[in-house]
Amino acid sequence: MSNKNAKKNLRSVILNLHQYTAGKSIQEIANKYKLDPSRILKLGSNENVLGSSLKAKIAATMALEKVNIYPEVTSSELANKIKKKYRLKNTEVVVGNGMDHIFEMITRLFLNNRDETIISTPTFSCYELSTIWAGAKPRLVPLLKKTYQLDVKRILSLVNKKTKIIFICSPNNPTGNLMKTEDIKRILDSTDKIVFLDEAYAEFAGKTLVKWIEKYPNLIIGRTFSKIYGLAGYRVGYAFIHKSLATYYLNSITPFVVSRPGQAAAVAALDDDSFMNKSLQMVKEAKDFYYRELTKANLKFLSTSANFISLDTSPTKAKDFAERLMQQGIITRECSAFGHGGENILRITFGTREQNERVIRALKESIANY
Ligand code: PMP
Repeated sequence: MSNKNAKKNLRSVILNLHQYTAGKSIQEIANKYKLDPSRILKLGSNENVLGSSLKAKIAATMALEKVNIYPEVTSSELANKIKKKYRLKNTEVVVGNGMDHIFEMITRLFLNNRDETIISTPTFSCYELSTIWAGAKPRLVPLLKKTYQLDVKRILSLVNKKTKIIFICSPNNPTGNLMKTEDIKRILDSTDKIVFLDEAYAEFAGKTLVKWIEKYPNLIIGRTFSKIYGLAGYRVGYAFIHKSLATYYLNSITPFVVSRPGQAAAVAALDDDSFMNKSLQMVKEAKDFYYRELTKANLKFLSTSANFISLDTSPTKAKDFAERLMQQGIITRECSAFGHGGENILRITFGTREQNERVIRALKESIANY
């Protein structure tokens, strides 16, 4: 055995990391609780339970014909199609390997060692992780109690020379609420730091601030094909970015980052209004159903503009709820990894009527046995 120490080459920030905690997989839970995998409901990762557009699947399959050929470097066909759909002038579209890759690109573009980002928690943990990977420092600001809105005063008070990016998630994961537009405007009017607005769930809310980029060139908006389009497995995300920054983004991009079938699936998915409408309708019905049933069951929940609903399990830890549901074959997400207060949030992805009924039954049973 060699006595050489390869680990000493690692960057110090890497030494203290632990692996990203993804939502649980069906196989994991089937093995752990000795359950039939076909009976397990996967409602912990905000995926689309209706699957994905048939048009997208056909396009991806056709693209396999040329899978020996590298895909387009910057996914420009897809980018142009999105740009056209939104009728943008001074705003460009850039495509990434999921929005997770867009975060890495944004931190690559703007963060030097010891720079800072501002993140309002509880929220999606990848903003914090991407900041740390870049050798920079995340400054965490709790969302306001009860309303889960941005603490604008606190955010602005933290802005200093080292601040480069302010991350905002709207609708926020895991609280589900849209951030007030006047608060986002106040931040944009007060600073020219980059404001990265994550709109992964915007289609469900029917609201976007894309048009604001014309006025605020420091605003960058992230989107994904993983949620309403049901293409999480293909890893396609994109961002709206002002044209004054887009060239720098493209000059720094990891080439060929979205696979050929992934690009083809996303292009086709944009044309499938019928799948999109079906998904929206399912989410709307699920939301009405959960609001009604959770109220009847006397369970505290947060109002949502996304494809999931979060229960406020306090004073009980959401982990206890999640565990009990898992024993009944239902995967949900306890949100302790999301920061401030997340340990009392149980996030449940909306499903079909039958799936939602099963969740409500299981929840009632779990609480009755408490
Ligand atoms: N942003 C938010 C708020 C999310 O919830 C997720 C996925 N859970 C992402 C971004 C990542 O999306 P993608 O699958 O495109 O990487």
